[in-house]
Amino acid sequence: MQVTVVGWAGSYPGPTSPASCYLIDTGDFRLLLDLGSGALGAAQQYTGLADIDAVVLSHLHADHCLDMCGYSVFRNYHPAGPLAPLPVHAPRGAAERLSRALGSEHLGMTDAFMFSDLEPGTIEIGPLRITTRHMNHPVETFGFRIEHGGKVLAYSADTGPTDELVTLAQGADVLLSEASFAEGPDQPPNLHLTARQAGEHAARAEVGELVLTHLVAWNDAAASLEEAAAAFGGPLRQASCGLRLLG
Ligand SMILES: [Zn+2]
Ligand SMILES: [Zn+2]
Repeated sequence: MQVTVVGWAGSYPGPTSPASCYLIDTGDFRLLLDLGSGALGAAQQYTGLADIDAVVLSHLHADHCLDMCGYSVFRNYHPAGPLAPLPVHAPRGAAERLSRALGSEHLGMTDAFMFSDLEPGTIEIGPLRITTRHMNHPVETFGFRIEHGGKVLAYSADTGPTDELVTLAQGADVLLSEASFAEGPDQPPNLHLTARQAGEHAARAEVGELVLTHLVAWNDAAASLEEAAAAFGGPLRQASCGLRLLG
């Protein structure tokens, strides 16, 4: 299982990265985990868009799902003919929400994609074993534990502090954790993690490596790394476009 960071910018695309998107490739199965603003273009550096086997969306905030609009156009109007509907695992209401965003009166979201509602639990998607839990965020949001070939990736999606993330990430080889907030007294609760909090969750889960992601362009990324390092003593990196993990 190889994981490629397609986009890591938090909340909106940054000058050097699209919003959230990760490509998971087992060699014979390719999954896009989130497809945020700007990610559809960048993804084509790493995969053909017709070669994707499934999409999983953590939640329906625009910076995690809005490029599904462009992807539906690619699949519905492909010059070789419409591509077969692609399995999409997403929170309840995704088809309606994304259809409104697309605004198509002809071929639309449900022509391009077969939507399944995510629930907390464990499912098999192709060769991947994926365990989901609810995160601590204002809309229904899932974090993930993705297992294949003895390797484990955990992904926080967007979340405030939660024991559920520690459970999901327990002993994972890599925790890809959001670190949206800079340390400060006035951060709203139940929304995002600071880098220090990401480090604390990683330490409690005893993960092999922490990769900070969903960093917001107006924050100081170097300061975020320092804050995380103060809480987590293991290997630590910041996500970057094209960064490959686990493979
Ligand atoms: Zn986000
Ligand atoms: Zn969000």
